[in-house]
Amino acid sequence: MAKVNPAFAEELQKYGTADFKACYSCGNCTAVCNLTDENTNFPRMYIRYGMLGLKNEILDSKDLWMCYACGDCTATCPRQAIPGDYMATMRRYAIAHYEPTGLTRLIFKNNPWYIAIIMLLAVILGFFLLTLKPEMSVSRWIFQYMPFEIIHNIGEVIFALTGLLMLAGFWNMVKHLSHYNGDKPKKRPKAAWLKSLKYVVNELVTMKRYQTCDNEEDGFWHQKHNLTRPWFVHWSIMWGFIGLLLATILDFLLKDPATTVWWPSRILGTVSGLFMMYGAGLALYYRMVKITDTYANSKLADWVFLWSLWITGLTGFWVEVVVMLGGNAPVNQVIFVIHVIMAMELVLLFAFSKFAHALYRPVALYMYHQNIAA
Ligand code: SF4
Ligand code: SF4
Repeated sequence: MAKVNPAFAEELQKYGTADFKACYSCGNCTAVCNLTDENTNFPRMYIRYGMLGLKNEILDSKDLWMCYACGDCTATCPRQAIPGDYMATMRRYAIAHYEPTGLTRLIFKNNPWYIAIIMLLAVILGFFLLTLKPEMSVSRWIFQYMPFEIIHNIGEVIFALTGLLMLAGFWNMVKHLSHYNGDKPKKRPKAAWLKSLKYVVNELVTMKRYQTCDNEEDGFWHQKHNLTRPWFVHWSIMWGFIGLLLATILDFLLKDPATTVWWPSRILGTVSGLFMMYGAGLALYYRMVKITDTYANSKLADWVFLWSLWITGLTGFWVEVVVMLGGNAPVNQVIFVIHVIMAMELVLLFAFSKFAHALYRPVALYMYHQNIAA
């Protein structure tokens, strides 16, 4: 019989949860959660896993990614074990353990290190950007002290390495989620993969599962307008970011200097940027005023992620207006550099930050649906 493992519980707490050992396994949290079904038993079962130190049961779980952190379970817990936060902590723990270098563990557990890594990366990216404009006087001054090629090559190595680590994290996640701790699933019907894919796309487009949480009749959000509910905030951030990424890729492929707002990729960029800033701005506001229990316990990773999105959006719009008006003042160049550095940091730190959930959740949803389709 498995024994309680206090060392593992303490390790989990470093990823941000409260003292979940207060839980006495009453099961209220699982009963009130709108997203559990006959195949799932979260958060209660995972609190047991955390107490018993069953690390692999946590890392192999799709259930972590089924939770949208609505906080309904936290509001009804008689022991203040904050089960909603515990689920978010396990997602951080999983992201950190899928990434193979240990850097994400350092980032999540140690705020000063997190800030140092962000700043160092910003400086390296700043130098790298200067190598793209070697004719500028500040670039010439820097290249006196460090050869152009070295700075440029360091930048390229960082890009290649983070791409590889992203793939490794993704691979580790899929390997873990493919383990079965119980009975092996039955054979899947033909074309089940297509149904599962449709299920994931449908969820990403409609956020139907997330809406189930917000629609809770006696819940806080039930009285609020749909456009202010957490599901729509999440939707705006996600689709805003995807749209901006697409617009940037299109600008790059079409080699368009984006000097007109009516260029299709610019329209896509502008609309997506507005959605992203709306979602990130509202999420920041909810965290600042601690509008519900869900937003009451923010971590540095939450703030960094949301502020990065918001500032990237704001500086992007600044640059767009300046390009339209033909301004070339030094302050605009500085804002352009800040915009590019922040956008690059978001992409480079994808696998090492909370942002990784954008990839992991759809994969887990797909695999979850494959199981129930079997
Ligand atoms: S976390 Fe709270 S509600 Fe859930 S089983 Fe434990 S004591 Fe009960
Ligand atoms: S936070 Fe919401 S979705 Fe997550 S386990 Fe609790 S009730 Fe369920």
